[in-house]
Amino acid sequence: MAKDVKCGVHSCAFWKSGNKCGAKNIVVEMYSEGKAKTSGQTGCQTFRPKDLL
Ligand code: SF4
Repeated sequence: MAKDVKCGVHSCAFWKSGNKCGAKNIVVEMYSEGKAKTSGQTGCQTFRPKDLL
């Protein structure tokens, strides 16, 4: 279990200074057929644009 999530997506409503994630929990999905092979084939589904929350 991840204790701290470091994130550089500062356009996310949950993002906090120091590259911290302020969400209570996050969901990460893969964007590929079969197994994800690179980090670029994964992504945070909890992301919400700052201007929508
Ligand atoms: S919800 Fe996802 S994208 Fe948003 S700050 Fe947390 S880890 Fe980053």
